[in-house]
Amino acid sequence: MTTTNQSHSHPFGKPVNILKFGEGNRIIVDKEALEKSFLHPDVKNRKIVVFSIIGAFRRGKSFFLDYCLRFLYANYSSIESRKNDPQFNKDWIGLPEEPLKGFTWRSGTKRDTTGIIMWSDIFLHTVKTTGEKIAITIMDTQGLFDNETSPADNSRIFALGTLISSVQVLNLVGIIQEDQLQYLQFATEFAKFAAQDNQGSSGKPFQNLLFLIRDWGNPDEYEFGTEGGAQYLKEVLKIKADQKPELKSVRQFISVSFDEYSCCLMPYPGKHVARKKDYDGQWKLMDEEFKDELVVIIEKLLKPENLILKKINSKDLKGFEVKEYIQSYFTLFQSDTLPQAQSIYESTIDKQMNILISKCLESYKLNALKNQDLLEENNLHIFHEMSKSKTLIMFSEEKKMGNAEHARKYKMKLEAEMEKSYNEWKDRSLKSIQQLKEEKKKTEEAMKEK
Ligand code: GDP
Ligand code: MG
Repeated sequence: MTTTNQSHSHPFGKPVNILKFGEGNRIIVDKEALEKSFLHPDVKNRKIVVFSIIGAFRRGKSFFLDYCLRFLYANYSSIESRKNDPQFNKDWIGLPEEPLKGFTWRSGTKRDTTGIIMWSDIFLHTVKTTGEKIAITIMDTQGLFDNETSPADNSRIFALGTLISSVQVLNLVGIIQEDQLQYLQFATEFAKFAAQDNQGSSGKPFQNLLFLIRDWGNPDEYEFGTEGGAQYLKEVLKIKADQKPELKSVRQFISVSFDEYSCCLMPYPGKHVARKKDYDGQWKLMDEEFKDELVVIIEKLLKPENLILKKINSKDLKGFEVKEYIQSYFTLFQSDTLPQAQSIYESTIDKQMNILISKCLESYKLNALKNQDLLEENNLHIFHEMSKSKTLIMFSEEKKMGNAEHARKYKMKLEAEMEKSYNEWKDRSLKSIQQLKEEKKKTEEAMKEK
C-alpha cells in the first residue's frame, strides 16, 4: 500500500516536474514552468542559489527537503508569500504536530516518475553587506537507482542535477559504497563533458557536494554530524598504495572536480519515520537525536552566510542565465550527439580521446604537408618536428575527460601516430626524389645522345 502526504495543500508553492523521462528515453522539459520561475521579475536578474538532492528512491530525500522548505519559508521571503525578509528565525521547525507538506514523500514501494522536480516558489534574501537581493531555488529528484530506471537514465539525471546545482546533496544510506563513488565519478565525468564549453580549463567544474549519510550505524567510531562526517569521508577517500587504479582514480577525481565536498552522518530517525505507513512527518514523532542533527545540518546548508551562488567559469549566474543553461543542458542530454552512458567510464574517455587524436593528427598533417615541395630528408625532419610540437601544444590545450594519467597515455598515442605518419610521408618523398633523380638522369642521357 502507498500513502501520499498532502503536498498539494501547501499554502504557497507546489512541486513542478521540470524534467521527466518519456517513452523511449525521451526527455520532456516543462519550458513554461522553467520560464515562470526563472524569468519571474523577482528572479530574472538576480544571482541565484540552486540547491538539489539526489540519490536512490525511498531514502528520505523529499522528507529532508520538506524540512528545508520549512527553514526557507521561515527565514526568507518568497516570491509567492511576498513577506519582508525576516530576521533569523530559530523557531523555523513549526508546530510539533504539524503534518509535513511540500515535495511529495511517501512510505511504500511504488515508484514515482523519474525526473527533476523544482519547488515552484523561489526564496529571496537580502545580503546584509550590499543590500543586494539573491534568489534561492530548491530541487528534488525522483526515481533514480530503482529497478526500473536504466543506468543510462540514472547517469543523465545525476549528471544534469550536478550541472545545474550550486549545492548537490548526495543522499545515501548506511555507508558510502565503492560502487556509489564510481557511479558519482562516471555521472559527473559525463556532466563535465557536457559542460566543457562552459568551464574554465583550470577551474573545477562543479561546486559543493554533500554526502548525506542516513541511518549512520557507527557513531562510536565516527560521531554524528559534519565533524564525524569529515573524518569518515577522509578515511573513505584516502588513497592507498595498494589500491586498484580505478579506486585511486575515483578518489583523485572527487578532489579535482568539486570546489568543496563534505559529509554529514545522520542518526536513525526512529520507528515512526522509518516504518509507520501512516506517519505524516510530525516533528514530535522523531527521535531526539535525529531532530538535533536535522536542525544543525539544515541551518548549516541554508543560513544566509552559508548560501552558495551558482557559478559557471567563476561568474555568478543570474536567474535568466540559469534557465538558459538548464535548457541547453536538457537539450544536449536529449540529443544523440552525447554518448549514451556506458557501463564503464573508461570507454567514454577512450572515445573522446580518440576523437581528439584524429583532430590533432589532421592538424599535424596539414602543417607538415604544407611543405611538400621541400623534399630533402633534413628539411622533412625539421618540418615534422615543428608540426609535431605545435600539435602537442594543441593536444594539451584542448579540454579532455579523465585524469593526468589518461592525458599522458593518449599523448603518447598521438606521438606514435605522428611518427607513423611522418615515416609514410618520408618514404613517399624519398621515393619521389629518387624517381625525379632517375627521370632527370634519363632526360640528361637522352639530351647527350642527341
Ligand atoms: P525519497 O524517495 O528518497 O524522496 O524518500 P521519501 O522522502 O519519500 O521517504 C521515504 C520513506 O523514508 C518515508 O516513509 C519516510 O518517513 C522515511 N524516512 C525519511 N527519512 C528517513 C531516514 O533518515 N531514515 C529512514 N530509515 N527512513 C526515513
Ligand atoms: Mg522523493
